[in-house]
Amino acid sequence: MRIARYTTGEDPSYGVVEGDPGQEVVAQVQGDPLYQPIVFTGERVPLEQVRLLAPVIPRSKVIGIGRNYADHAREMGGEPPARPMMFLVPNTAVVGPGDPIVLPAGSSEVSYEAELAVVIGRIAKDVPPERVPEVVYGYTCANDVTARDWQRDDGQWARAKGFDTSKPLGPWIVTDLDVADLAVRSTLDGETRQDGTTADMVFDVPTLVSYASAAFTLLPGDVILTGTPAGVGLVEAGQRVEVEVEGIGTLTNTFVRR
Ligand code: MG
Repeated sequence: MRIARYTTGEDPSYGVVEGDPGQEVVAQVQGDPLYQPIVFTGERVPLEQVRLLAPVIPRSKVIGIGRNYADHAREMGGEPPARPMMFLVPNTAVVGPGDPIVLPAGSSEVSYEAELAVVIGRIAKDVPPERVPEVVYGYTCANDVTARDWQRDDGQWARAKGFDTSKPLGPWIVTDLDVADLAVRSTLDGETRQDGTTADMVFDVPTLVSYASAAFTLLPGDVILTGTPAGVGLVEAGQRVEVEVEGIGTLTNTFVRR
C-alpha cells in the first residue's frame, strides 16, 4: 500500500495512492494512518491534482546512518565502519516532494545522497533483528543533503546534515516492501549519478533498526536513513535532483539559493 500526505489547498490529509503510473488516484483516509486503522472517507482525487507533502513529519527524530555502503565509504576516503555510525537530524530539516532545498549561506559544498528511509510504526526498544518487521511501518525515499564543508570543518554532523530543508522525504510511504535488494538511484538534472542496490549495505535494515533501538526508544513516525551508495557530488542553485528507490517511486527537489 502507498500512503501519501497531501493537500488540495486545505489542511493536509492522508490518502492511499491507487492505480497504475499516470492514472493514480489518491483515496482520502480519516486521520493519520500511522496511529489509526485505514478508514476511507470516500473522497478520491487524481494524483495530478494534489500537492504531495512529506509523507511523515517525524515526531521525535530522524536517525541517519553514515558510510553504510563500502563504495561510498571509499569515495569519501575511508573504509566502512565496524559498527553502524549514527547521527541525529532535527525534524525541522524535513521537507516534501517538490519543495525547494535552500542552499545554506556560508556553505559552498552541498551534496545530494540518495537513500532508502525506514519509517517506524510502533514504540520500540531493544528490538532483536528478527522482530524488526513488527515495528516498521513502511519505507520512503530520502535525500540526505549534506554540506560537506561544514561536515569537515565542524567535526560532527549536526549542522552539515541538519540544516532546514536538508532532508526531503517522499513521494509516499510504501508498506509491505522487501528491501533486501532494491535499486537506489539519483539523477542530477536528468543525468544518472548514483546507481546502487540495498543489497550492498554494510549493515542491513534489520541490523540498523535493532542497533538504533538499543540506544534510543523509537517512536511512531521516527525515520531512519540507511546510507547512500557511491556517486555523490556537489550541486548548484537551479539544479534538480531525483532520488529513486525501486518499488517506492521518485522524490524530486530543486536546489535554490536565497
Ligand atoms: Mg547519508
